[in-house]
Amino acid sequence: MSDCIFCKIAEKEIPSKLVYEDDDILCFHDLEPQAPVHVLIIPKKHIGSLDEAGADDIAVLGALLIKVKAIAASLGLENGYRLVNNCGEDGMQTVKHLHFHLLGKRKMLWPPG
Ligand code: AMP
Ligand code: ZN
Repeated sequence: MSDCIFCKIAEKEIPSKLVYEDDDILCFHDLEPQAPVHVLIIPKKHIGSLDEAGADDIAVLGALLIKVKAIAASLGLENGYRLVNNCGEDGMQTVKHLHFHLLGKRKMLWPPG
């Protein structure tokens, strides 16, 4: 997707503060952190949202979820964390490339706003 900001980050056309990278996924710091630790974890492949993920994406998204604990550990989130996916208009998704927010180092509120 030529006009997708997270595809551009995955292709290194736009800089990011990288936390983790492998062949399929990327993790980088959010530009506007909502917690002392706030990173985004994305599949490198363009998937518009969780709603647009399909059977072809099971392996990559499974690997992404399993990688969360290692990323969390590398960021010192031994006391826990929150993983968030905003999907679609009511989910308030603003960047149309599937991503998970990993937030930590403070107590999270429930319900979210
Ligand atoms: P969402 O509202 O779930 O779509 O989240 C999009 C997130 O992407 C927001 O938390 C933004 O702060 C973040 N964001 C937007 N552009 C960038 C960027 N260039 N680098 C890092 N984070 C970004
Ligand atoms: Zn994209």
